[in-house]
Amino acid sequence: MTTSTADGNLFIVAAPSGAGKSSLIRALLDRHNDGSMQVSVSCTTRAPRPGEEDGVHYHFLDVATFQQKIEDNAFYEWAKVFDNYYGTSRQVIEETLRQGIDVFLDIDWQGARQVREAYPQAQSVFIMPPSLATLEQRLRSRGQDGDDIIASRMAKAQSEMSHYHEFDYLLINDDFDQALANFEHIVLARRQRMALQQVRHAAKLKDLLANDG
Ligand code: GDP
Ligand code: ADP
Ligand code: 5GP
Repeated sequence: MTTSTADGNLFIVAAPSGAGKSSLIRALLDRHNDGSMQVSVSCTTRAPRPGEEDGVHYHFLDVATFQQKIEDNAFYEWAKVFDNYYGTSRQVIEETLRQGIDVFLDIDWQGARQVREAYPQAQSVFIMPPSLATLEQRLRSRGQDGDDIIASRMAKAQSEMSHYHEFDYLLINDDFDQALANFEHIVLARRQRMALQQVRHAAKLKDLLANDG
């Protein structure tokens, strides 16, 4: 992807299913509802859960359509997770970043690897639950998956968590508000990076340094 320093920041967020990725991203967007950040809506072949809306939580596609998009190079990254395909549409990400909007990708570790490779400026955050027992409890309390799905997600949690050290930041989602505050610090710090501030405040910096030398 061709980028400029004024582009939005790309954040990769990964965690074992049920650790609280979606809740943390949603809460952060609610606190910054000024259009400065967006979550990417992935495509998936999994069935919608009760209450999930096409185009809001995911773009729900059949396998043939998903595979056609792979062939058309329409995905920025894609992966098979829990026997379903998941992928991030290339066009939406590129356009949103170009508008200077920060983008969050709620993706698995395989997708995270692809994005880091394609876009090394991306910052990646891994979210851990405080314990395995809490993770299982959260999956159950969400009340959207049956016992067999919960068991397979718990089994997959170990392999997802084993990739945590590939990420730039680690958050433990024990107390939700504390985890949210820490997440927000990561995002806001990234917005103040020198290269971006130099573009944003070019005129001010010129004035401030007018008498230099
Ligand atoms: P959750 O784990 O409860 O949020 O369940 P989901 O069904 O929403 O997500 C399943 C898995 O697919 C998670 O590991 C997500 O991070 C991953 N995932 C979701 N969207 C994408 C995507 O666009 N690309 C990739 N690579 N992974 C995704
Ligand atoms: P993920 O997107 O990682 O699969 P969710 O955001 O759907 O996880 O969270 C799973 C469940 O755990 C949800 O019911 C959510 O409300 C709950 N949850 C998330 N974070 C916390 C927390 N810190 N304390 C208690 N419950 C939480
Ligand atoms: P769920 O089915 O519970 O919504 O998601 C299961 C897993 O798939 C989560 O770990 C989620 O992060 C991952 N996932 C969701 N969308 C994508 C995506 O677009 N790409 C990749 N690689 N993983 C995704």
